[in-house]
Amino acid sequence: MINLSNNGTRMPVQAPEERTKNFNEVAEGFTEEMAVREALRCLQCREHPCMTEGCPVSNHIPDFIRKITEGEYEEAYQILMETTVLPAVCGRVCPKYLQCEGNCVRGEKGRPVAIGALERFVADLHRRRVLAGEIGETPAEKTEEASAKKKVAVIGSGPAGLACAKDLASAGYAVTVFDREEVPGGVLSYGIPAFRLPDEVLAFEVDSLAAAGVTFEAGKELGKNISIDSLMGDMGYSAVFLGNGAGAPMGLGIPGTELSGVVSAADFLSRLNAAGADEEALKQVLPDPGTIAIIGGGNVAMDACRSAVRIPGAEKVQVVYRRSVKEMPADPAELAEAMEEGVEFIYLTAPLEVLGEGGKVTGLKCQRMELSEPDASGRRRPVPVEGSEYVLPVSAVIEAIGSRSENAGVDGVDVSSDRGLVIVDPETLATSRPGVYAGGDTVTGPKTVIAAMGAGRKAARAIDRYLKQ
Ligand code: SF4
Ligand code: SF4
Repeated sequence: MINLSNNGTRMPVQAPEERTKNFNEVAEGFTEEMAVREALRCLQCREHPCMTEGCPVSNHIPDFIRKITEGEYEEAYQILMETTVLPAVCGRVCPKYLQCEGNCVRGEKGRPVAIGALERFVADLHRRRVLAGEIGETPAEKTEEASAKKKVAVIGSGPAGLACAKDLASAGYAVTVFDREEVPGGVLSYGIPAFRLPDEVLAFEVDSLAAAGVTFEAGKELGKNISIDSLMGDMGYSAVFLGNGAGAPMGLGIPGTELSGVVSAADFLSRLNAAGADEEALKQVLPDPGTIAIIGGGNVAMDACRSAVRIPGAEKVQVVYRRSVKEMPADPAELAEAMEEGVEFIYLTAPLEVLGEGGKVTGLKCQRMELSEPDASGRRRPVPVEGSEYVLPVSAVIEAIGSRSENAGVDGVDVSSDRGLVIVDPETLATSRPGVYAGGDTVTGPKTVIAAMGAGRKAARAIDRYLKQ
């Protein structure tokens, strides 16, 4: 029985006036009844473009959805785990409108099947049942080569590193994931606010990997207290995967960014995640924030502005973006939620200088822009309007204009790179150094969680082939 409704099932969310007072998750998840009703909208298409065109890790979408309609939720979870390691995370943070749901046939006439919400439902139910002791965590399947026990080092515990580690551990290798932070998860842990991805959701999926035999070593930073030379030398690792992301923020490059009150979105979000629910620590994330300007128009800008409205002392939050809303790369759903939460958007405006007094931010000198012909990115290029400068009175500025890899030029890494990104063979993700592979944001620059995970899996297959030569 197919549910022919074109409207789909909406996930309940916290009301805007409530959610801006807390960091609890905004989207509350499907109930079982909602999940089954939504799953019944899936047409079980033979070609399933949701999966073949839309999902970077090729989750078996119609199969796991069919299991939901049959009430076989744990089987649905096991189907997902054949291809992904972080279903509860991806169900929440994937830009589904561009990926699986953007390719769903039901989207041609009405709303696509809510694939991400269904994936989240299945993974959340599995987590609750494991934590309640109703079912055990499923041990990872290991292949016959388990006894080989060659050691592989994975640098970085973000989505690329975790996916690579899981596949290599399943193939029988002794895998250690090194991360400079104390809490594993990379950008998922420090870069995504709790109202989109609660800590316990990520922690459970990381713990599942530890239970599957992956070892985690915190406080280990490439170029500081570990090097590729030492890993592949004294420490006895046969291969290394670089999956340590693109965490180095890019600055605005305008005068005044040295003033107190200017912070990168990466630092702001990371301090916020470290503060958790501690009210006093939250006050220190951005002291006396008053009016906050966020510069940028991507998903990190959305995370930053939506976090900013929730911090103590924030009076007004404004996003300054140099193109129009049409060119904005942010997820439209995130943009809509930011607007509901009271964030103001100032389009066609570029910052020229951060102004200050006594070392503290007092304003942002801006210039109006207009759009001309499309540039290389296909988006219309903003050009300054002569004589349109004005000052926006603000007391804090958050830079959210992108980030780059930190591997290039790091002591002891010694792999070829171009403009801060590691160069790899596109087929194997092998770097210029034998036995060293790389994938995810450190190669591509900031992309999606699921794209990074796909790269981690691809590298794992190549590392397996390399170690069997
Ligand atoms: Fe969609 Fe992402 Fe899940 Fe793939 S991993 S099915 S793209 S939500
Ligand atoms: Fe179901 Fe949509 Fe995928 Fe078709 S394209 S199988 S309707 S989720």
